Amino acid sequence: MTDKVRVRFAPSPTGSLHIGGAHTALFNWLYARRHGGSFILRIEDTDMERSTKEYEQSILDGMRWMGLDWDEGPDVGGDYGPYRQSERMHLYKKYARQLLDEGKAYEQDGALFFKVEPGKRIHFRDEVYGNLDFLSENASVNQDGTIKDIVIIKRDGMPTYNYAVVIDDYTMGVNMVIRGEDHIINTPKQLLIYDALGFEAPGFAHLPMILGKDKKKLSKRQGATSVFEYSDMGYLPDGVFNFLALLGWSPKEGQEIFSREEAVKMFDVSAVTRKAAVLDMDKLNHINQEQMKIMEPMKLLAVIRPFWLEMGLDLSAFSDDYLASALHTMGGRGQTTKQLAEYSDYFISFDVVKARYDGSDIKEELRPKLKKIYGELLDAWGDGAPEHLHEKAQEIFAANESSMKESATPIRWAITGRKVSPGVFEVASQLGKEETKKRLEFYGLV
Ligand code: GLU
Repeated sequence: MTDKVRVRFAPSPTGSLHIGGAHTALFNWLYARRHGGSFILRIEDTDMERSTKEYEQSILDGMRWMGLDWDEGPDVGGDYGPYRQSERMHLYKKYARQLLDEGKAYEQDGALFFKVEPGKRIHFRDEVYGNLDFLSENASVNQDGTIKDIVIIKRDGMPTYNYAVVIDDYTMGVNMVIRGEDHIINTPKQLLIYDALGFEAPGFAHLPMILGKDKKKLSKRQGATSVFEYSDMGYLPDGVFNFLALLGWSPKEGQEIFSREEAVKMFDVSAVTRKAAVLDMDKLNHINQEQMKIMEPMKLLAVIRPFWLEMGLDLSAFSDDYLASALHTMGGRGQTTKQLAEYSDYFISFDVVKARYDGSDIKEELRPKLKKIYGELLDAWGDGAPEHLHEKAQEIFAANESSMKESATPIRWAITGRKVSPGVFEVASQLGKEETKKRLEFYGLV
């Protein structure tokens, strides 16, 4: 194939971009970018009742959020437009006329039907499912098994999916169709129409279904939710991208965590599996966490910031450097951005610490000893580097016949209000001497 690759994602704007749609879009995008081709966005809005402009917009926004850019589409235009089916009626009419004139279609009850001739062999090679053969009499059948001619234009004048998709893919120069496996059964019908119009058919690659953890079709509860809900739950676009890319495909290099650019380099459609892929949230959590770890600090800050604000934290007193460094101090904790924002709240607010921890568990008889130790530690602060603080603490604890457990636990509670946190000297170092002192003072520990 010397032609430039042209693939398309063809959503119906009857809902926002959910995980299944995002998966299909992503594989088309990967294929286009891998082959230096064009990725087209076509809006299949012939269901006038259920299609809305709001859903169309939300699909575009969802794709942008995922980092899937398109070369041609309703918003950016292109040489093969228009990119909404509702604006392509003249084409559906034109080819319907051709079929009528050639006796390959007929009108009945105000609708146009494509005549399915028996005895034709339909063959196509699917990049994923291999060689597939059908007989025309099985391509479209009634309940009783007799041949069912295919409606191409409905009584309301709108084209049907199986017809419009052929006209559009052909007139838009699409040469590879990548879509969900549920469309394999439609492919023979479409191929009959290609053949009748004398169009060269594109290549096909059907993608395995995505199932919920219960091995059933995705439901709202099982992840068939809009990509924006994933954003709200604290998943990164990079995490969702990486996770979806691994549903039904894996690089032969075995790499599991990768960027978009790496995925493009490694992508191979013939390595897509036929087996249904299961949406495993544990895996998404893991991938998301790994993606957070390799994210640029300032980019990570940009996604964490809204979560902090939503928690009611006031960030105005802090520089971006401080906040990004606080996130770095978290050392990869948290599987979602939401968790990371929650776990790191004490870097921004002492009020949240006070609300969590009242200090009543500190034994009175231990206080004088702790006060002495923490006082000495603050005096030995120096440059405040975590290693320095750690070293000094070890000396001071030993000199006062105290242990890490005895002396490091209260300070952790006092500065974070949590039982679990990054290394206590890292946290103290990040907070700085004054803030650390203030918090210790509040709990009567210096
Ligand atoms: N609008 C169809 C769908 O959303 C497109 C199917 C296709 O890619 O051919 O299922």
